[in-house]
Order: sequence, then C-alpha cells, then structure tokens
Amino acid sequence: MRIYKVGGAVRDRLLGKPVTDIDWVVVGATTEEMLAKGFRPVGADFPVFLHPKSGEEYALARTERKSGRGYGGFTFHASPEVTLEEDLIRRDLTINAMAEDDQQNLTDPYHGQRDLKARLLRHVSPAFAEDPLRVLRVARFAARYAALDFSIAPETLELMRQLSESGELEALTPERSWKEISRALMQDQPQVFVEVLRACGALKVLMPEVDALFGVPQPPVHHPEIDTGTHTLSVLQQAALHKQPLTVRWACLLHDLGKGLTPEDEWPRHIAHEFKGLNLIKAVNERFKVPRDCQELALLVGEYHTHGHRALELKPSTLLELLQSFDVYRRPQRFEEFIAACEMDARGRKGLEERSYPQADYLRGAATAARSVAVQPLLEKGFKGPELGEAIKRERLKALKLYKEAASA
Ligand code: ATP
Ligand code: MG
Repeated sequence: MRIYKVGGAVRDRLLGKPVTDIDWVVVGATTEEMLAKGFRPVGADFPVFLHPKSGEEYALARTERKSGRGYGGFTFHASPEVTLEEDLIRRDLTINAMAEDDQQNLTDPYHGQRDLKARLLRHVSPAFAEDPLRVLRVARFAARYAALDFSIAPETLELMRQLSESGELEALTPERSWKEISRALMQDQPQVFVEVLRACGALKVLMPEVDALFGVPQPPVHHPEIDTGTHTLSVLQQAALHKQPLTVRWACLLHDLGKGLTPEDEWPRHIAHEFKGLNLIKAVNERFKVPRDCQELALLVGEYHTHGHRALELKPSTLLELLQSFDVYRRPQRFEEFIAACEMDARGRKGLEERSYPQADYLRGAATAARSVAVQPLLEKGFKGPELGEAIKRERLKALKLYKEAASA
C-alpha cells in the first residue's frame, strides 16, 4: 500500500499557511489490510479509517458516481486497483486535488499548483456538479483565501450557478450545510462567503430571507450605506474584525431579516422590523438545525438590537425588562454577546466603523446594578414565592433608577 497526504494539508503547505488537520489517502490496500494494521473504521458511508495513534483520517482511494438526488445518491467504488489520479479527480477544486508522498513528491494531475499561483478556485472536472455541497465549499474557500486575492474561475462560478438553479441545493442535509456555513462564518472575511453565494444564486435558495435584504433601502441618516444587504455584510465583517464568536456572527447575519418584509411604500423606514423578523430568524434557525446557543442569540438580538442602540434613553422599567429577557443574572455571557452584536451592528455602517459605542458600557453597568440586588434581606423580611419575585424586581428597578440618575448626572 502507498500512503499520501492529500487535500488541505498539501494546499496549505504550498501556500505557506499553517496546516491544522491532515487527510491521507491510501492506494493499493483493502479494508481487511487496514483493519489488520490496527486502523479503526469510521462512518458507514465510505471506507475511511482513523490511525491507531495519531487519530488522523485515512481514506481508501475511491471513485464515485452519482446515482440519485442528494448526498445519499452516490455510489462509490474502493478497491486496491483505484489509482491516485482516479481518486484525485473526484475532488472539488484543483488546489484540493494534489497529493504528496513522504518525500514531499507532488502528484498534481489537475494543475493545482498552477491555480494556486494564479489564485484561482477552479473545479477539477464536470463531476463537480454531482455534489451541491461544493457550492458552499467553494464559497467558504473564497472567504478563507480572500486576503490572498483568490477568485473563482468563471467556468466554476457558472457550474455553481447551474447547480443553484437545478434544485439540488434543497437536497442537502441541514447538518452538512451548517458545517460549511459555520466554518465559513468563522473566517476572517465571512462576508465573502455570503457574497459568493449570492453571486451564484445559492443565497436565494439557502437563505432567501437574507437574499431579500439586497435592494431594500434604509434611512441614510442612520445608514449611510443605505442598502440593507450591504449593511448586513458590513456587520458580519465587523464581527470578524473584532474576533467575535460564532453565536455573535450568526446573530449579526440574521438581525435585520424583518426589513425584507417592509412594504415598499414604507421604505426607507422599517417600523417594528425587530419583531416582524422573528419568524424568519426562526425559520432559518430550523432549516439548518442550528445549535441552540446560536439560535437563541439570533432571536434575542433580532428582537432587542434597537433597545441596545437606545440603551441610554430607555426608561428604567424598559431596561429592567431587557435585562430580565436576557436573564442576565444566570446568563451573563449571553448578554455580553448581545452587546457585542449590537456594537457590530452600529459599526457595520459606511463611514461609522470606528465610532464609539457608549451603549456597551452603559448596558454592562445596568446589568451590574440589577445583579447587585441581594435576595437574602428580602427573605429575611419574610417574602416568599411569587411575592419574593415581585420584591426582587422592585429592588432591581430601584437600583436601575439610581444607576440611570448617576449616569446622567
Ligand atoms: P480544511 O483545511 O478546511 O480541512 P480541506 O481541503 O482539507 O480543508 P476537508 O473537508 O478536510 O477540507 O476535505 C479534505 C479533502 O477532501 C479536500 O481537500 C477535498 O479534496 C476533498 N473533499 C472534501 N469534501 C469534498 C466534497 N464535498 N467534494 C469533493 N471533494 C471533497
Ligand atoms: Mg482537511
């Protein structure tokens, strides 16, 4: 058997980028031989194994053929006769279709090196169209290598466009899509991912709610960039610049969905868009079976981001309701993430990227004030049950009144 490094490890070494995980391909071996060497089989779908010591993935060289809709619609063929070149041709991009032996001898039948030099994301063969996930993968790589000035080959973008129109994207499982979306959002330029999906028509299929924001105007006083789609991309970009976690980035992407529902005769105002957007956020969350913490934050940011911006003007009672909604007493981290998302929203506007956001510290201070109310003295006064709850709220309201007075003094 011959063993080669493939995919990202080869690509990133040639790019001079750090290599995080190594994928291996094994030519000339059978499943039995792998098991005899102590490799552990993973996944029922493909002949992939984990190395007994390193835990890295080793896949038997295989060919694939499309036999039906979606990812299940693949038949693959793995046998000791499958050559390295035959395995590489089924891969998505030429820069991902190179292999390297232990002497660093490169096998590059589809000119990945040439495309690396030309900074091109180019599909390996027409079989690219057999797996719609590749549309998301290419968009993710475009985001990942945007700073290196990579672009998508026109013929690849055309294939992505055809795939998006074919209805195949709908056959993707939520799990596979979310894995790509979440990884793409964590890149330094996640907005490029959304731009590429939009350019090939995939955004309209995957997240029509986000696609609908392009072409929707907002009031120039608050939004010099005017377009809601442009604004959303800028907010996402700010979130990446400020190294925000996935939860915040997801919330940033979805925070203004309600603006896509505003009747044209109300433009550029978007009355109650925060509330109107909630069903849309919920729909996108469910479509991709998004992790709970991301779902939750997106809904909260959608509903309350305007409260965040108006923090300094909020009445103490409204401030208290906000803090209660976030359960800042038990979930301080989530409130921090809300504040971060609001700040990114404020900065994701043309020419306002460097503005200060005093609301952030004001909200933190309010949370601290509300949290400082001690329960023990109320218990000692004999409050219990619902009355205790009411008493705590009253005390918190008092604390917030004092806080607001002190802040405005
Ligand atoms: P990363 O550094 O993000 O891991 P990677 O290129 O190694 O990038 P993986 O998802 O680890 O990405 O996949 C390893 C290799 O397997 C890819 O480089 C590519 O050659 C191939 N590959 C993975 N998924 C697909 C797919 N859906 N279609 C075609 N080839 C794929
Ligand atoms: Mg990899």
